[in-house]
Amino acid sequence: MPHIVCCVKQVPDPEAPASQFKVDEAAKKVLPIPGIQPVPSQFDTIGVEAALRVKDKVADTTITILTLGPDAYRDTIKHCLAMGADEGVHINDPALNEADHWATAEILAAAIKKIEPVDLIICGRQAVDWDMGVVGSTLAELMGFPVITIAKEVQMEGGKVTVERVLLDGFETVEAPTPCVVTVSNELGEPRYPQLRQIMQAARKEVVTMTGSDLGIDGAKNRINLEALFVPETAVDTEFIEADSAKEAGEQLAVRLREAKLI
Ligand SMILES: Cc1cc2nc3c(=O)[nH]c(=O)nc-3n(C[C@H](O)[C@H](O)[C@H](O)COP(=O)(O)OP(=O)(O)OC[C@H]3O[C@@H](n4cnc5c(N)ncnc54)[C@H](O)[C@@H]3O)c2cc1C
Repeated sequence: MPHIVCCVKQVPDPEAPASQFKVDEAAKKVLPIPGIQPVPSQFDTIGVEAALRVKDKVADTTITILTLGPDAYRDTIKHCLAMGADEGVHINDPALNEADHWATAEILAAAIKKIEPVDLIICGRQAVDWDMGVVGSTLAELMGFPVITIAKEVQMEGGKVTVERVLLDGFETVEAPTPCVVTVSNELGEPRYPQLRQIMQAARKEVVTMTGSDLGIDGAKNRINLEALFVPETAVDTEFIEADSAKEAGEQLAVRLREAKLI
């Protein structure tokens, strides 16, 4: 029975107004946005969609949603279960919450080793908050699996995956033996939206909770030291051109742009 693990992260809602985005510089943490719920990272629900398309063709495929994060991350697992995934694994341990990218991959790898055998691990090409784009490849390295990045189409059959990858100037098709890791991109298409019936069914699906001690991990072994976290200040200088006519205003604008060496 094919088994796909989708690594899904929860992020602050990217649709929230930029003015609401705040960090605690002393604690070096992103603050929750008041009144706006965090959401699954966009590329990660696209990853779930990729897994569901494989399951659409091979019905006995099992899809496990794997996430590392605090209590609120359970909503993200439930959303993916409502999309059609089968089960969830929530690594929820305060000692692991401040993991850097390396430690995140290490913790996810330890959890996957607990739920093996696995044929395919799907990650987003990058998380839409920190945008590092490294967890998928690091996870592959730690698992000893091949990795194919930035996929727009994923097919799995006969012990191999066939992936159409996005290039700067087109696409290429590559294959890898399973088990392997694939990171997906938005070119794959829109993730399906759960219907009310699926949301109710998701409430009954199993979510297993793991802690560091279940994984034999004693705290996040970070390799990166976060020196500072801040929202950069942007200064906007606006100059209004006063003129009696649109023609005169246009001429003055052209002169100002030339003086500023912009034209
Ligand atoms: C020193 C340090 C301290 C940090 N402290 C915090 C903190 O306190 N709180 C905090 O929220 N962040 C913290 N971060 C950020 C955190 O390390 C990253 O969010 C996380 O490690 C993944 O990096 P990324 O989001 O850039 O992942 P990417 O490499 O961009 O992610 C690629 C893919 O990996 C998978 N993935 C990534 N993270 C997870 C996850 N948690 N669960 C499941 N799948 C995942 C997803 O499929 C995702 O699409 C800290 C970072 C550093 C360097």
